[in-house]
Amino acid sequence: MFFGTWLDNCPALDKDSRVTSPSDSVLRALTDDGSFRVIAARTTDTVNGAVQTQKTSGNVAACFGDLITATILLRETMAPQLRVQGIVRGKDASGTMVADSNPGGTARGLIQLAKGKPEIRVAGGFLQMMRTLHDGRIHQGIVEIPTDAGVSAGMMRYMQVSEQIVSVVSIGTLVHGDRILESGGYIVQLLPEAQEGMLAVMTERLADFPAIETLLQSPEFTPAHLIEEILYRMPYALTEQSALRFECNCSLVRVIAGLATLKADEIRSLVEEGGVLDISCDFCGKGYEVSPEQLRGLLKAN
Ligand SMILES: [Zn+2]
Repeated sequence: MFFGTWLDNCPALDKDSRVTSPSDSVLRALTDDGSFRVIAARTTDTVNGAVQTQKTSGNVAACFGDLITATILLRETMAPQLRVQGIVRGKDASGTMVADSNPGGTARGLIQLAKGKPEIRVAGGFLQMMRTLHDGRIHQGIVEIPTDAGVSAGMMRYMQVSEQIVSVVSIGTLVHGDRILESGGYIVQLLPEAQEGMLAVMTERLADFPAIETLLQSPEFTPAHLIEEILYRMPYALTEQSALRFECNCSLVRVIAGLATLKADEIRSLVEEGGVLDISCDFCGKGYEVSPEQLRGLLKAN
């Protein structure tokens, strides 16, 4: 069951730059009656960091921002030590976008446009969310993004279908060229203890709620203010706040581990070439040098 409205196809809205600049954070709240949990986030600087390193702009940057925020929000609904990866697979194999949200509040992203395609087509594409469970298994779910909508609507469908939690999701990213003006969103979850009729109360409330783009543009926009508006006149407690930031968790060890997936002859031919291999991280652009000795070590490991 869906409720609320699907507002966007990741529109890139222009607006003037802001005077003040609060930092990124995510905040959780729980209503006193145990009916709802709300998670709200400001992700502007985090998304901007990812957009700058991926050198994207316009609608793609807006959708990319939405995916990063969606991935962060989903991670915040779960145990704090889990890592969540969100992937948009564009319609007609137009490309993919990846977002990683890690414990500690760091996030990063990657855009891979398919060859010869001008833009990743999010509407009608697929949204895939993955997380690693405690025992190392991967839990993943994939849903089709509605043909007239964006990541926000895809995320709402995902929560419904894959997580089976009645949720309202609203996510937005305001872009000017290649600069993120504001990004953020919220998720409202109906908890199992909810009293009958509470769903209708929230549905009615959110039907009249301003569009996320309007909320993001408000000078008062913060996660705390979003929660205050959503839970207006409903007693609630703020349960947790954490800082968010753009940061890549790449390392030489991870780069070498990535090379280990190559076939033995491919590694052997790299070793025979003899030179130092220059590899840059696709997520952040940081350069790594892998020596022939390190490559040879991979052959021994095989
Ligand atoms: Zn990196």
